[in-house]
Amino acid sequence: MKEFVEFVRKIYKTKDFLPLHEPKFLGNEKKYVNECIDSTFVSSVGKFVDQFEEKVKEYTGAKYAVAAVNGTAALHIALILAGVQAEEEVITQPLTFIATSNAIRYTCAHPVFIDVDKETLGLSPEKLEKFLNDNVILKDGYAFNKSTNRLIRTCVPMHTFGHPCRIQQIIEVCKKYNISVIEDAAESLGSFYKGKHTGTFGLIGTLSFNGNKTITTGGGGMIITNDESIAKHAKHITTQAKVPHPWEYIHDEIGYNYRLTNINAAIGVAQMENLESIINNKRETAKTYQEYFDKTNWNLFTEPEDSRSNYWLNIVMMNNKGERDEFLKYTNENDVMTRPVWRLMNKLDMFKKCQTANLDNAEYLEDRIVNVPSSYRM
Ligand SMILES: *Cc1c(COP(=O)(O)O)cnc(C)c1O
Repeated sequence: MKEFVEFVRKIYKTKDFLPLHEPKFLGNEKKYVNECIDSTFVSSVGKFVDQFEEKVKEYTGAKYAVAAVNGTAALHIALILAGVQAEEEVITQPLTFIATSNAIRYTCAHPVFIDVDKETLGLSPEKLEKFLNDNVILKDGYAFNKSTNRLIRTCVPMHTFGHPCRIQQIIEVCKKYNISVIEDAAESLGSFYKGKHTGTFGLIGTLSFNGNKTITTGGGGMIITNDESIAKHAKHITTQAKVPHPWEYIHDEIGYNYRLTNINAAIGVAQMENLESIINNKRETAKTYQEYFDKTNWNLFTEPEDSRSNYWLNIVMMNNKGERDEFLKYTNENDVMTRPVWRLMNKLDMFKKCQTANLDNAEYLEDRIVNVPSSYRM
């Protein structure tokens, strides 16, 4: 552990506190923010919002992109637009950041937790298929959960720490049950599965530009989709569902104030200009970690088959929970920030009563995953 602390300090060339992931502003961020202030367009109208959406569309290959105030709000909107209603069910993975499950509850639907694959850390298509096979009855073409009598509307897999899950197989399984797929791609901007950007396989994908993500707008999110009517509806309900009119205030449904400001978008445009070099830099760091960990009895988790990962947060697999806890204690006490994976959703008070299937892989990973410093390296 002492050797690890020395190694990570050497590659980041610092004796100071080493964060897990800090933002990096390499280009036009200040210039564009100043433009916003000089122009007075600092709020929800302005050219940078459009430019930011355009850049994300171009980069991900999605037909449409709609900016949102953060990734959690983007997920909330995606669930609404997938038609999720109160007392329905949404399948997701227990190994995810709280935002995924919270957004499901915002719609008053109930999460159902299905296990992940050890090879991808994302939802397991085989375990999903087994669950649906054992638990679903199709009525009028819709999937009903036999034990709760609730409609299973949507499935939300997540591309964990930037590593793509087996999204095509997940979608194939869901299709058989008329369940739509929303990809939580909050952590995977810059990650591709079979050459196609994560978040563009399902009905809707969502991104996050929080301060700790690969690139940041301070706070921000994006809804991406190939469906024109969903994109239009997303823009409408993230902006209070106001009907366009030269002066009157008319709103035609319940809307949300989930817009991204022009200031945040200005930072986003500048960040997008450097995205590819940021990702190359992060992939270099992953390689450096891999060479190091190959010489220890721990392993770096590397990108799954058929994938190019952004290596948002590097993952070291410990041999057991005791070792994990020792590693966390030693590194954090020595000012090197490391973190365990999130406590599994089904163990949190709010989600304890949710249905789960066998979660062996998630349990295994929860005891062993440690994230290590992964910021851009100068
Ligand atoms: C970061 C993140 C989100 C969204 O986060 P915001 O902070 O609201 O932008 C959603 N899901 C996952 C898995 C995340 O890591």
